[in-house]
Amino acid sequence: MTAKPTVLVTGGAGYIGSHAVLALRDAGYGVVVIDNLVTGFRWAVPEGVPFVEASIDDAATVAATIRDHDIGAIVHFAGSVVVPESVSDPLKYYLNNTVRSRSLIESAVTGGVKHFIFSSTAATYGIPDTVPVREDMPTVPINPYGMSKLMTEAMLRDTAAAHPLNYAALRYFNVAGADPKGRTGQSTAGATHLIKIAAEAATGKRASVSVFGTDYATEDGTGVRDYIHVSDLADAHVAALDWLIANPTENLTANAGYGTGFSVNQVLDAVDRVTNMKLDRRYEGRRAGDPDALVADNARILSTLDWTPQRADLDGIVRDALAWERHLGERA
Ligand code: UDP
Repeated sequence: MTAKPTVLVTGGAGYIGSHAVLALRDAGYGVVVIDNLVTGFRWAVPEGVPFVEASIDDAATVAATIRDHDIGAIVHFAGSVVVPESVSDPLKYYLNNTVRSRSLIESAVTGGVKHFIFSSTAATYGIPDTVPVREDMPTVPINPYGMSKLMTEAMLRDTAAAHPLNYAALRYFNVAGADPKGRTGQSTAGATHLIKIAAEAATGKRASVSVFGTDYATEDGTGVRDYIHVSDLADAHVAALDWLIANPTENLTANAGYGTGFSVNQVLDAVDRVTNMKLDRRYEGRRAGDPDALVADNARILSTLDWTPQRADLDGIVRDALAWERHLGERA
């Protein structure tokens, strides 16, 4: 058996990236992190992991990092992630998620990197005709965030056809929770994601939670999403890398979700259950760019990768998110 390649993790100081660093290390991969620390945190990178503070489109630094560390794979998380912000500031998203990814992909090709894993998103589907949504269904994003990621998927597809590099694009559904061992979690200020916001409210950092839209075509009228525990998602990246190495001429585009949808009200019910309190819910109008329901058909990832969700439990996700939120409160 050949030795496992050293992996360059972009955005490894961020929320999902820092969990993936832990998972890759646990699986025996050497890891190097590159992050510009705009939304990430230096403390989120474990001791002993080489850290490069740079933007992913700093081609000279990326080339030197690939060469110096003999990088064989890139797991690319760096980017911007807030759907409503992408509506108000689309060019930020096309720069951070599309243009800078192009530069990174070029650096991968030039540096002879063989495997590439990309953080894509369920937002590439837009408003699916049916849920659960399958990977071969139309990708018609309804916000710049989804489009900025879909464009990067296209670059990877075309690059992999032309160069000796294979890739996996994982289309994340709604990522939530925190490392069950309490080593990292969602820490960036100015949260917009539902479970993070609810955790802030439950720990007294905000007074109420807004429910955006009560007239969606869903059972209770609030938006439905497929929430996946961040540690399961991190493990999916390890499984995807193992698969890319074992299948060097194949590529994979796969949904990363559990296949179960929960409405905003159901999520807030879970928070109430776990905390034994009642969050103050403020029912408001719809938020720009939000589809009614997004739930994964996850048959492809389950059948392709050696990956089985370990934490598919909404209350458990909420519990881990709350534990991390309390921990952040103690650090402050
Ligand atoms: N949402 C909400 N209140 C909030 C944040 C989100 O009602 O404070 C809703 C949002 O409209 C969507 C769901 O929760 O239906 C998930 O939104 P989130 O921002 O967490 O993730 P997204 O699906 O936009 O990536």
